[in-house]
Amino acid sequence: MAFDKILGQEKPKQIIKNALQNSSVAHAYLFYGPESIGKKQTAIELAKALNCTSLIEGNACDECSSCRKIENKTHSDFFFIEPVKSTPTAREAAIKIEAIRELQRKLSFHPYEGKVKVAVIDDAHLMNIQAANSFLKTLEEPPSATVLILISSHPFKLLPTLISRCQTIQFQALSHENIRKILEETMVEEGIEENTLNFRTLRSRGSVSKAMKEDMEDVANIRKEIVTLLETISFDRMDIVFSHAKSWAQQNDQWEIIFNELMELVRDLAFFRTGCTDSQIHNRDIATRLKPLALKRSLKSWIEMFNAVHATKMALSGNANAQLFFENMLMDFCEAA
Ligand SMILES: [Zn+2]
Repeated sequence: MAFDKILGQEKPKQIIKNALQNSSVAHAYLFYGPESIGKKQTAIELAKALNCTSLIEGNACDECSSCRKIENKTHSDFFFIEPVKSTPTAREAAIKIEAIRELQRKLSFHPYEGKVKVAVIDDAHLMNIQAANSFLKTLEEPPSATVLILISSHPFKLLPTLISRCQTIQFQALSHENIRKILEETMVEEGIEENTLNFRTLRSRGSVSKAMKEDMEDVANIRKEIVTLLETISFDRMDIVFSHAKSWAQQNDQWEIIFNELMELVRDLAFFRTGCTDSQIHNRDIATRLKPLALKRSLKSWIEMFNAVHATKMALSGNANAQLFFENMLMDFCEAA
């Protein structure tokens, strides 16, 4: 796949194409920006272009054995590192020092079948501190004929010393138009309806995986539940506080959706309260229900609720007593109401 087939990302693609054309490809890059917008695809495309045996106007041909092997991650000079979980039930995946040491060993050899060795570290911010320090040595003394590409959606979590040794390239969230194109191409076989297509595009925030994977039924149900809650919650209805706190505390597989929807809805309500138009609202499709609700409370109340949600989300990323924290959050809602 040529660079031009990667949707959006005009600036990153231009920077890389120029570097290839002028033979000024850097030793190390950091591709950063939101998740699922084309960073990894661009890194693979760069690896292919650096090793392709029949380049077509600076683009990899996709046909030669080098291109095919890199695409399938079987090329002996292409290394792809990503975080792994230490056990299947582990909460967080990480890139550990063993993986970095193994990479360093492989990078110490000359290219075996290609021209340039390319190592891609996906989710580089998930390198643990030992791994990051070890990788820093490779960045400080890069092996010959090697290009290192770090990919991250949370670059601020990377060691500043790592960042300073890379050429940084920022990737932007995709436009709604491009997200729609990708959804149309990939989901048309599933018979995606026009309404769903619009809804998914609207909610994507420019991320392909969010647009494709989100469980629309779950989202619709939770959103309905939250809007009803926000319409009715007050100190006169403590039954609502306790029943929601109890049920949410038990559904820890749904916390991410619950928090996301709470934040998005309360954010939209605060925006409507300040007189924003529909174009700035994420939950545009239910604007007629949100507008009157927004006016029921002050802007200060909506902001207080937003802060309560944020604080609870942070607290629950530890081992806090979930029901207690949800109760606390909803009491803050009552206070703000
Ligand atoms: Zn090729």
